Amino acid sequence: MTQFSFTKSEVITNLINFSQGELHNYTSNRNFDYGPPHYNVSKISPYLRRRFITENEVLRIVLKDHKINNIEKFIEEIFWRTYWKGWLESHPWIYDEYKAYDKDQNIPKKTGIKCFEHWKEELLDTGYLHNHSRMWFASIWIFTLGYSWQSGANFFKNNLLDYCPASNTLGWRWVAGSQTIGKPYIAKADNIKFFTNERFYPRNQLKENYILNDKNITKRKPKNFNRYDENILKKHENLGVILNNNDLSLHQLLKEKEIVYDCCLFSNKHKNILINNFQKKLFEDIRNKEQDILSVNNFQDIYKWLKDKRIKNLILPYESVGNKIFYKNEFLNQIKDFDINFTFYLREWDANAFPHATKGFFNFRKNINALLNQANIKSSI
Ligand SMILES: Cc1cc2nc3c(=O)[nH]c(=O)nc-3n(C[C@H](O)[C@H](O)[C@H](O)COP(=O)(O)OP(=O)(O)OC[C@H]3O[C@@H](n4cnc5c(N)ncnc54)[C@H](O)[C@@H]3O)c2cc1C
Repeated sequence: MTQFSFTKSEVITNLINFSQGELHNYTSNRNFDYGPPHYNVSKISPYLRRRFITENEVLRIVLKDHKINNIEKFIEEIFWRTYWKGWLESHPWIYDEYKAYDKDQNIPKKTGIKCFEHWKEELLDTGYLHNHSRMWFASIWIFTLGYSWQSGANFFKNNLLDYCPASNTLGWRWVAGSQTIGKPYIAKADNIKFFTNERFYPRNQLKENYILNDKNITKRKPKNFNRYDENILKKHENLGVILNNNDLSLHQLLKEKEIVYDCCLFSNKHKNILINNFQKKLFEDIRNKEQDILSVNNFQDIYKWLKDKRIKNLILPYESVGNKIFYKNEFLNQIKDFDINFTFYLREWDANAFPHATKGFFNFRKNINALLNQANIKSSI
């Protein structure tokens, strides 16, 4: 069973153990799915996605044990998340096109393909799947079983602990051959046999020769990315910060700068019980550390908190494409009525990287060293 921890200190301990135990083998071992508990990968994604821990923190931790050159692959993977987020910022219509399929909730049933059924169960039971299995699963969903990639993306959306609009939508598009146009990812039985350590071998069960004939692809120019106000993390009168699933550690930036703030945590419910329980426990850990943080789950309670604390300046986590929570007229008009200055704060990490994410990953990758320098991240050995 893949177990996920619920406190920041456990997450850090697990990451240190992974770094000191498995990370040196990551490049050669990461593509193997040995089954739960997936000791050969970090399983850090449900925390990174919510910035319960940040990319910056993760890399600083592992670079205490490794030189940059020795863990390039892992660093690159960390940047894949950033890249997908940035790419979707400059191509927001791609997410709107996917959203049009919200109602396509079809799920293949009783397929007779043992590995596929296993991964379906594993996802439902644990909220997690290994990256290679996500690729095989998506490929079988689309090409062998003939379901739309959008229905598959919806299935992941409803069940992944780490669900992220950018990584998920673009991951499914990539498998379907719509992201790297004309190059679908076709799952092969021999490849599954090898990389599952012979746990599965769906011989003669998969459609392995698939010709993609997608003539409907039109290319639109990426949108320019505008940097946001960098001066927001300064002392402001009656400063408030709202944490939510887009960033559960934003208040730490203020704390590091010894800026006084009031904080509330938007702890909205998730309809999936497993995900809801997971989130609830992360929220609890945050509140156990800072008892002054008020937990709220609707806009009315936030308005009350804003009034009670006489907030004049408000910081909210930046809402990238697919992650809108407060960027809604209902909320924005109300805080304008309260005469509150507000900013959706984009972390330096994203602000530095997103402008490079308009083309392919190989283009983006050339900037990784410069991005590490900008973040002042280096190996300490
Ligand atoms: C069809 C499909 C759907 C996906 N949906 C999601 C999703 O909704 N949310 C999500 O977080 N990831 C998604 N991924 C990416 C990837 O599978 C997961 O991030 C990874 O499996 C998380 O496990 P880990 O933390 O153990 O990874 P590790 O191998 O330990 O990697 C470390 C970190 O690097 C990042 N990373 C690694 N691989 C990728 C990748 N391919 N794309 C983006 N970031 C990556 C993640 O932040 C990950 O936590 C999807 C991939 C595919 C093929």
